[in-house]
Amino acid sequence: AERIRIAIAGHGNLGRGVEAAVARNADMELAGIYSRRPPEQLKPLQAATPVFGMEALPGHTDRIHVLILCGGSKEDLPVQGPQLAALFNTVDSFDTHARIPEYFAAVDAPARENSRTALISAGWDPGMFSINRVMSEALLPDGATYTFWGDGLSQGHSDAVRRVDGVADAVQYTRPVEEAVERVRRAERPVLSTREKHTRECFVVLEEGADAERVRDAIVTMPHYFDAYDTTVHFISAEELARDHRAMGHGGFVIRSGNTSAGNAQVVEYALKLRSNPEFTASVLVAYARAVHRLHAMGQYGAKTVFDVPPGLLSSRSAEQLRAEEL
Ligand code: NDP
Repeated sequence: AERIRIAIAGHGNLGRGVEAAVARNADMELAGIYSRRPPEQLKPLQAATPVFGMEALPGHTDRIHVLILCGGSKEDLPVQGPQLAALFNTVDSFDTHARIPEYFAAVDAPARENSRTALISAGWDPGMFSINRVMSEALLPDGATYTFWGDGLSQGHSDAVRRVDGVADAVQYTRPVEEAVERVRRAERPVLSTREKHTRECFVVLEEGADAERVRDAIVTMPHYFDAYDTTVHFISAEELARDHRAMGHGGFVIRSGNTSAGNAQVVEYALKLRSNPEFTASVLVAYARAVHRLHAMGQYGAKTVFDVPPGLLSSRSAEQLRAEEL
C-alpha cells in the first residue's frame, strides 16, 4: 500500500518530535518540513528530509496527505490553523483550553468549504486526558473526575517567571500533592482546592544586583499563575540551570471514582510518565494523522476533535486484524 505522506509545519520541539515519530511508523513517510525561518537554518534529524519555506506550501498540496501543525498555541496556530485547513488535511495540538470552541469554528469553516479534514487539539492534555475524562464519566455517571499534572516542567509558567523584573532565566515545575492523589485513589471523592491539588516549584537565575526577596514576592503573589498555589522559589546559577533543568519530562493522572451501587466504588486511572513531553505529544499527533487520512478518504470533512475519532482508525492495523488480535 502507498505510504501516508506526512509534512511538518513549524520546526520547534514538537516538530522535531514528529520527525522522530514518523520514523517509527512503517506506513508513513516524511514529505517535508516547512518553516517561517530560512531552510538553511533548520537541522532535520535525517539530512535527506527536504526543508522548505512556509510560502512553498500552497504549491505542494499534491505532495502531502496530512500536514501536522507544530506552531505555538498562543501566536501561531490561531493564524496558521484556519489558513492551512483550507489547503491540507491537518492535525494540531492547540492547547489553550478556554479558546478551543472558537478555534474549532475558525478551522471548521475553511476545512468544510475545501473538503478537508482538520483534527484540532490532539496531544495528551488536551488529547488523551480528555478522552479518559469523557470515557470514565460515561461509564461511572455517579462519581467525580480529577486531573493531576506533574512532576513536570510547565512552559507557560516558566515564561511567566522569566518576565518578572530581575529574573535572567527560570524554569517552573508543577507537582501533584501526593496526599490528594491518595485520597482520590481511595475513592473518597474529596473536594480539593487548587492549592490542595498541586504545588509549584521555581528555579530562578537572578540578574546582576536583583533583590532576591522582591523577586520571590513578585513570583508567589502573581495573579492567576501562582497566587492560588503554595510556591517554592530557589535561586540558582546559570550553570546549574543549564546542567540540571534541561529535561522536558512531564505527565500526570486522570482518575475517576464512581459508585455502581452504594457499597461498590470503582476507580479508573490513566497515567502518563513522560521523559519528553514534546516527543510524546508528537507521537499522539502522528497516530491522529493516520486517522485523519482515513476519515478524509471516507468523506468526513471539517474540524474534528479526539472525541470524534474511533480508536481503531489510530492503529496501523486493519479493523479485521484488530478484531482478531485485540478483542
Ligand atoms: P516551540 O517554541 O519549540 O516551537 C513553536 C514554533 O516556534 C515552531 O513551530 C517554529 O516555527 C518556531 N521556532 C522554534 N524554534 C525556534 C527558534 N530557535 N527560533 C525561532 N523560531 C523558532 O514550541 P513547542 O514545539 O515546544 O510547542 C508547540 C506547541 O505545542 C505549544 O505551544 C503547545 O501549545 C503545544 N503542546 C500541546 C500539548 C498537548 O498535550 N496538547 C503538549 C505539549 C505542547 P517556524 O519553524 O515556523 O519558525
